[in-house]
Amino acid sequence: MKLENAFTMDTSSIKYGPGVTREIGYDMEEQGCRRVMVVTDRYLGKSDPVAVTMDALRGRGIDAVLFDQSSVEPTDVSFKEAIAFAVQGKFDGYVAVGGGSSMDTCKAANLYATHPADFMTYVNPPVGKGTPVPGPLKPMMAIPTTAGTGSETTGVTIFDYLEMGAKTGIASRALRPIRGLIDPDNTRSLPRMVAACTGLDQLTHALEAITALPFNQRPAPEQPRLRPAYQGANPISHVWASRAIEMIATDLVRVFDNPADDSSRGQVLLAATYAGIGFGNSGVHLAHGMSYPVSGMVRNYVPEGYPPGHPIVPHGMAVCLNAPAVFRFTAPANPPMHLYAAKLMGRDISKARPEEAGEILAGAIIDLMRKVGMPNGLAAVGFGPQDVDKMVEGTLPQHRVTKLSPRPAGPEDLRQLFLDSMKLW
Ligand SMILES: [Zn+2]
Repeated sequence: MKLENAFTMDTSSIKYGPGVTREIGYDMEEQGCRRVMVVTDRYLGKSDPVAVTMDALRGRGIDAVLFDQSSVEPTDVSFKEAIAFAVQGKFDGYVAVGGGSSMDTCKAANLYATHPADFMTYVNPPVGKGTPVPGPLKPMMAIPTTAGTGSETTGVTIFDYLEMGAKTGIASRALRPIRGLIDPDNTRSLPRMVAACTGLDQLTHALEAITALPFNQRPAPEQPRLRPAYQGANPISHVWASRAIEMIATDLVRVFDNPADDSSRGQVLLAATYAGIGFGNSGVHLAHGMSYPVSGMVRNYVPEGYPPGHPIVPHGMAVCLNAPAVFRFTAPANPPMHLYAAKLMGRDISKARPEEAGEILAGAIIDLMRKVGMPNGLAAVGFGPQDVDKMVEGTLPQHRVTKLSPRPAGPEDLRQLFLDSMKLW
C-alpha cells in the first residue's frame, strides 16, 4: 500500500471583530450576489444577529430572503426542506446565521441547488454514494452565533439520516464557506451551559486534531481530487489546534463564570475558529465518532439552560463525556503528543513519564469539565451498561472519523471506552 505524502491547507477567509456582521452586505455585494438566501433557525429568526444581517444585505440593495426553519439537530428531511426553498428561490448567494446546524443546512441547500442530484449522491459512504462534488458552489458566508462548531471554516455538513437512525454527512472542500464573519457581539446572549458545551466541543476538536493518525500514515489517494478533507494530523493543522487548546483552557471558565466578560468571550469565539481550521484539515477521531450514538439515543436528559420538554445531550457534551476515556486509550500511540496537549491545558509535564500521558491529559479535561458544570459521565445523562451494545453499533459506521484514530479501535475497544465513560470522577 502506498502511503500519503502530501497534505493541503484549506480554510475560509476570516473577518473578526465586534460589529463585523454589519459588513455582510458589502462582502456579499463584492462577490456579485444580488439575491441571497439567509439561513437560520426559528429561535434566532427574530434575534439581533439576523436583523443586523438582513438590514446590512438590504442596505446594499441585495434581495435577501430569510429561511428560519433550519433544524437544531438537522436531518435529511430538514435538509430537503431547505434545499427545496433554495431551488425555488434561484439564489446567487447564501448566508448562514447561527450555530453549526444553520451553517450545515445552508451548505446542503447551496450544494443541491447548485449541483442538483439525488440526495444520497454526495453523502459519505457507506451510508451514501460519496460522489465527489462536480464543481464550485455559489458564494456562501457564515456568521456563527455560538462558539463551538468551527463550521464556518470547514467543508463538512452533518445530519441525522432518519431511516437508519445514524449521523452522517457530506464532506467536500466545495462546501466550505468563502468567508466567516466572527463577531463577538453575536455570542453575548449565549446561555452559560450552551457556552460551556460549545467550548468543550471546540476543545475536543483541537485535541483530536493534534492526536489524530498522522496524514503520512494514511493510504495515498488514487487521484488528487480523492484526497479527503480530513487528512489526519499534519504540521499546519497542528499549529492552529494547539493554540485553540491553550485559549480555551485559559478562557472558557472565565466565560462560564462571567458571560459579560467581552474579552474572554471574544477569545473563545476566536479559538473556535482556530480549532475549526485545525480539525477541518486534519479531522477528528474517536470522541466524535462515539458522540453520535450518545446524542442520538438520548431519553429524558435536558441540560440546564436548554428548552424544557426537548431531551438533548448537546453535541459538545456528548463528545467531552467520551473524551477522557478516549485519550487514555490513544495515548500509547503517541505519548509525547498527549503530554503536549496536557501542557497546553496548563499541566506541568516536566516530570511526567510517557506511560502517564493518557491519565494526565484525561485529568486536565475532567478538571475543566467540572469547572463548567458538565455531568459526571454517561450515567449522569441517563445511560447504563445495557446501552453499550447499541452505542458501539452506532459508532462503527462513523468510518470517516474513527479510522483517523491513532490506535485502531474495534468493537471490543469501543465497548470498553463507553463503559469507562459511564462515570468520570
Ligand atoms: Zn464537534
